[in-house]
Formats: sequence, structure tokens, C-alpha cells
Amino acid sequence: MLIIKDISNLQSYLSAYQNRKYSIGYVPTMGALHKGHGELIKQSKKDNHKTIVSIFVNEKQFSSKEDFETYPRNKGFDYDFCIDNEVDILFEPSSEEIFKNDETLLKNKNFKDILCDKFRRGHFDGVITVLDKFFSIIKSNKVYFGEKDYQQLKIIEKFIEEKYKSLDLVSVPTQRHEEGIAYSSRNEKLSKKQTQDFVDFHKKIKNFIISLEESLDIETANHRANDFMKLQDIDKFDYFEFRNDTDLSFVGTVSQARLFYAIYKGKVRLIDNLKV
Ligand code: AMP
Repeated sequence: MLIIKDISNLQSYLSAYQNRKYSIGYVPTMGALHKGHGELIKQSKKDNHKTIVSIFVNEKQFSSKEDFETYPRNKGFDYDFCIDNEVDILFEPSSEEIFKNDETLLKNKNFKDILCDKFRRGHFDGVITVLDKFFSIIKSNKVYFGEKDYQQLKIIEKFIEEKYKSLDLVSVPTQRHEEGIAYSSRNEKLSKKQTQDFVDFHKKIKNFIISLEESLDIETANHRANDFMKLQDIDKFDYFEFRNDTDLSFVGTVSQARLFYAIYKGKVRLIDNLKV
């Protein structure tokens, strides 16, 4: 595996691949890699001749400096993880080279003022700004994103439709621990007790979802979701609601919906979404 830290070096390897007409799959990550990322890599390896993974903790998508600074970083492990998963290139550029003091942010216009966009203002502007840089540097054939960050996936789908028409987006289902909670880099910040509480909460959600009739309309399901949340021992939550999984509206029935949530365990913010 090649570990490349600067853009010009990366581009000379990539152009050798492109000259040989190799298809390139790209998996963007913020590191602290786990089985969720592993599944994206696996899919890319199935679909392409070469797979490139980037590790870049993007300061532009964090609203608080503290959250950025305490985001899990796990370099040695990540290198081994990528080697074990037979990644061809690990790209790990510096913030200085990516942003070159450019403070301009692209403005996301899709799926606005709901879910994470409502509670993390500007977060998705930071996400598409950095992806714009990486997409134009790497020029891969395909790019891989997880359903775990479902609103992000929908926003990037639109962004690619608008600006990178020849790039194929491949989405990968959420990978979960046996106990049901999704793999997430932020899980590393939970204590044992917080993890157990989170697992218990997840089990209750599953039972709650199973208790709903598929023909129930989303609005009524959301009244029940409110009642359900009143009974939970959660430090704080931003949202806990059903939305239509095509357009993220409140239109339709539970069978067309996903349950989206962002909750806090202590200071750790955890998001997930579950297909009903
Ligand atoms: P992150 O490193 O958290 O920015 O995530 C990088 C990519 O991995 C994103 O496309 C995420 O949606 C995806 N991802 C994160 N966790 C999971 C998971 N548990 N299952 C599938 N994909 C995931």
C-alpha cells in the first residue's frame, strides 16, 4: 500500500492508473476506521481495479473547536486496517494543502433546515466544500458513502448530480455491531456504561418500530415517537423522527420511512437511522 501525503505525488500515481484505463474507487473518511469503513472499501475493491482511501479530519465541518480537537484519531491502527483491507493508496493530505488559506465555503442548498442541518448549521457546507476539493483532485470513477449518514448521502447525491455528473455514487448499508448499534468512530468516546445504555436504547427503539403498523402515516408515527422519547433516559437529543426516505419529507406511511435520530450520551453526539 502506498501512503501519499501530497497532491502532486498522488496525481502522478493516479495518472499512471488512468493511462492504463484502470477504474478507480474512492472512499473518503475521517479515520478512526472500523467495519463500516471496511465495508465501503470491500465494495470499492469489488467494483474497481484500484481503491484509494482518504483520511482527513475536515475542520470546516465541525461547529466547535473542541469537537474537532477531540475527534478520535488512530493513525497506527488505521494504517494496519487499510493494509489488511488491501487498499491500494492511502491519501492523507494536510489541511494547508487542501484549503490553501481559502476560506470560501460552498453553500449546500438541498435537504436544508431539517435533521442535522437544523442542529449543526453550516456542517454540510463544510462537507461539500471538502468533497469538492477531493473529487477534483482524485477524479475517481466511483465514490463510496455509507447510509449511516443518510442526510449526508442524499445531499452528496444532489451535489454530484449538479457538479460531477460522470462520477458514480455507490451507497453502502449501515454496518452494525451484533448488539445492533452502528459502528461509528464516535463510539470510541463512550464509556462502558454509556455504551451499554446506548445498546439498551437501541433495543427499545427496535421494539418500538416493530410495534408500529406499516400502514400508519408518518405524522401519527411521529406523535408516537414523541411519546416514546418522553420515557427514555437520554441526556439530550436533537431529533428523533420518522421521515420519508426518498425526499426526507413527512409524507407517506411508515413502510416508506426511516427513523432518524441524533442523541447525546454525555458530550458525545450519536446519529443513526433505521429503515422501518
Ligand atoms: P466518517 O469517517 O465518519 O466521515 O465516515 C466515512 C464514511 O463511512 C461515510 O460515508 C460514512 O457514512 C461511512 N460510515 C460510517 N459508519 C458507517 C457504518 N456503520 N456503516 C456503513 N458506513 C459507515
